[in-house]
Amino acid sequence: MSIYLALDIGGTKFMVAAVDARGTILRRTRADTPLDLDKGLALLMSMAHEVAGSDRVVAIGASAGGPLDWRSGVISPLHQPQWRGVPLAQLFATEFGCPLRVEVDTDAAALAEFASATSGKPIQPTRLLYVTISTGVGGGFIVDGQIYRGHDGTHPEVGHHAIRWRMNHGDPRALHCSCGATDCLESLVSGSAIRALYGKPAEELSEAEWNEVGFNLGQGLRNMAVILAPSVIVLGGGVAFGGGERLLREARQVMNDGLRLVPAPEVQLSSLGYDTALRGAISLALAPR
Ligand SMILES: [Zn+2]
Repeated sequence: MSIYLALDIGGTKFMVAAVDARGTILRRTRADTPLDLDKGLALLMSMAHEVAGSDRVVAIGASAGGPLDWRSGVISPLHQPQWRGVPLAQLFATEFGCPLRVEVDTDAAALAEFASATSGKPIQPTRLLYVTISTGVGGGFIVDGQIYRGHDGTHPEVGHHAIRWRMNHGDPRALHCSCGATDCLESLVSGSAIRALYGKPAEELSEAEWNEVGFNLGQGLRNMAVILAPSVIVLGGGVAFGGGERLLREARQVMNDGLRLVPAPEVQLSSLGYDTALRGAISLALAPR
C-alpha cells in the first residue's frame, strides 16, 4: 500500500511514524537523539525504513528545530551543534524517491493544532497562535491554514520581545535572555529561566510563584494578541502542561486586562500533548504540494 512518513527531529529525541492517506498512524518508533551527525542521520534513516516496511512511501513531512530553509529542505537546528547545513530533503528524496517537506518544529506543531481546532467544529478559528513553553519559548502563527512567514521566509520568534515583568519571589539578577537581548518573555517563563530565577524546576513552584510566572506570561500574550489579533492562542510544552490552569488563569486575566483595542482571544492548553510536532510532520506529509 501507499503510505506517508512523518519525522519529528528533536534535540533530545527522534519520533518517526508511518501513516495512511487519512493521517492514521500505522506504525511509530522513537529513540534518543545521538550527538554525532552521521550516527543521527543513519538512525533516522533506519527508523524510517523500520516503520515503512515494504510499503511505498508517497511523501515525507518533517519537523526540526530552526533555523532551516523550508524551500530547499536544508536544516541547521540550533540545539544540535553538529547539524549544520544538512540537506534533509535531498537525502530522503534519494533514499525513498519522494518529496520531503520540512518546517520549524513550532510551525509544524501550530499546523497540527490548527487541524485539531478546525476539524468538525461549528465555529472555526481562522487565526491560531501556538506558543510552546519548554526549555525555551517559541511558536507558530497559522493564518487560514497557512504558516505565517516574515520577511524572506523568516520564522518569527514569539518568545523574544520585551515585557513589563514583575518579580517578587525569584531573583531578577539572573535575568538575561539566551538570545542576547534583555527582558524577553523567554527569559522569564521558559523552563531554563524558571530554574535560573527560582532555583528549582517548574514542577516545584509554589502557588505564588506560578502566579508570578502567569503574570509575566500574560504580559507576553498581551503583546502577541494585540499585534496579531489571533482567534485563539494554544499553549503547549512542559511548563504549560505542568502549570495547567494555575498558570493559564492568571495569564488570561493579565492579557485580558491589557487588551483594549482588539478582542481577547481564547487561551487554551494543547490537546495534542507531546505529539504536536509529530502530528505537524504528518500534516506536512499529507499537505498537497
Ligand atoms: Zn530573547
